[in-house]
Amino acid sequence: MTSQTFDCDLCGSSDHTVLEVARKYIGDNEPPVVCDNCGFLYIRSRRPAKEIAEDWNNIFGKGYTSEWPGVKARLFYVAEFFDQKYGWKGKRVLDIGAGEGTFLKFIQQRDAWVSGLDPSIENCTKIEGLGARAYCQTIEDPIPEEKFDVVTILWTLENCQDCMRMLRFAHDCLEPDGQLMVATGSRILMPFKKPLSSYLSQNPPDTHCFRWSKETLFSALWRAEFRYLKTNDYLENDCLVCIGLPVQHEDGPMLIDSRELSNNPKDVIDFFSRWDREFP
Ligand SMILES: [Zn+2]
Repeated sequence: MTSQTFDCDLCGSSDHTVLEVARKYIGDNEPPVVCDNCGFLYIRSRRPAKEIAEDWNNIFGKGYTSEWPGVKARLFYVAEFFDQKYGWKGKRVLDIGAGEGTFLKFIQQRDAWVSGLDPSIENCTKIEGLGARAYCQTIEDPIPEEKFDVVTILWTLENCQDCMRMLRFAHDCLEPDGQLMVATGSRILMPFKKPLSSYLSQNPPDTHCFRWSKETLFSALWRAEFRYLKTNDYLENDCLVCIGLPVQHEDGPMLIDSRELSNNPKDVIDFFSRWDREFP
């Protein structure tokens, strides 16, 4: 099937600037663009969600595993982060993009009731092996019938075809007093964690449609009707974790400083130019 062209997922603007500096790291792939209005970094041309999901299954098939020490460590970190702040005990949890279920295993040991959503049959078999419920689907399919106390989206929001749709799906899966936790390694306008050549790749560009800063992640959650946006100490750790509560209509308007919801596009472009110079 053919690709579709998307405007900015956050503000809807079609005005954008190509991130030219990316070209030397991505082969002939389409480079990401920076929204001229809100500074969001995204890929414009995207295939249907199922095709992107299939690519991810192939990438998993090529040896990527959440048992790698670095991957396991970051999942342990978010399990511990949430546990210390809010606790997992007795919570019903849905992990969207659950992979092999490594994170679910961690929080099951902390007495959470776990379910995982993943498009891969192999992964769902592993999740069921934990005695957990597996939803073998993508977020384009209908939402599960049960509701959850916590929905987690870990290193997944950047890899889907429609980030706002994924957040709204999460919203609809939650109990009214539930919580959403998103974790990402995007790190825009933060200290460089790794060389730019490892951050960008020659994988199909739409397997990584979005790159987040704290502000654009806040913006996405806010636009998907989440409030009480809290982060971890993302300058001390190599991931950005954000917690949001689904807004209730009786809550009335919740004010947030609009400066917290966008980046200056020039700052984003300058950030990548500096990354290219200092840590290619
Ligand atoms: Zn925008």
